[in-house]
Amino acid sequence: MIRIHILGSAAGGGLPQWNCACANCAAARAGKIAPQTQSSIAISSESEDKRQWFLINASPDLPRQIENMPELQPHRDSPRNTPIRAVFLTNADIDHALGLFLLRQDEAPLVVYAADQTRTALAWIDGVLARFRRIEWRKISADFQSLSGSLGFRAIQLPGSVAYQFRDDSSGATALFAPIVGELTEQLRNAVDASAVILFDGTFWTDGELATVRPGARTSREMNHLPISDGSLDFLRQSPARRKIFTHMNNTNPILRPGSRERAQVEQAGIAIARDGLEIVL
Ligand SMILES: [Zn+2]
Ligand SMILES: [Zn+2]
Repeated sequence: MIRIHILGSAAGGGLPQWNCACANCAAARAGKIAPQTQSSIAISSESEDKRQWFLINASPDLPRQIENMPELQPHRDSPRNTPIRAVFLTNADIDHALGLFLLRQDEAPLVVYAADQTRTALAWIDGVLARFRRIEWRKISADFQSLSGSLGFRAIQLPGSVAYQFRDDSSGATALFAPIVGELTEQLRNAVDASAVILFDGTFWTDGELATVRPGARTSREMNHLPISDGSLDFLRQSPARRKIFTHMNNTNPILRPGSRERAQVEQAGIAIARDGLEIVL
């Protein structure tokens, strides 16, 4: 059995974002829609030691996310401990990596799985953390490798990021986490076809969405995110997965608004929209 807990479901900046007065950020401040912290999930294998958790991406909101999830908190049987065994990184974005720095109050090395290019891009975090806690970098590969008990994982290389597929060998359950998808590569399509649960890049609804609040902003595709409306919606609609969920939503995304036409289109396609605290057991 695999357990997935969505710690944060927003793209960089969160919802609301400190300097944003868009309709969604204003609605979140007014308590009309739920706020969202920055994208990260916790995953565990339930068949053995329940207290082994792995994080995929470590956001700047990580300390708050840990306080919102009792199972990620230290056990009372010793003064200092954590059930977090390792962190997986999808890329080197600040909103995915800054949380590493916030785990510095520990002497044991911090185990981090990442692609070589992510490790290279994060050399500065290595440098800053070295005074407190060493990072023990682990390599990832396209083939499944064992992680903990019956839980295994593999990496799907994408342009500028990786997706991770997890598999529980005792139950056969599979889950895919792909929060940054710039291109529907053949390997990604195959992984989507072979996963029962899919958490997928839902950053932007349209390519030009960010320019509506920040004139001159790069397009969704220029930022390595396939927009939902003319990119991932049809693709995911056709996927045979049992549960399909958009996550890593930018605060400008209209699917965050209950009653919006865009949200209805996503729901009609059989795709759910992530929220902080959502838990999936498979
Ligand atoms: Zn991000
Ligand atoms: Zn906003």
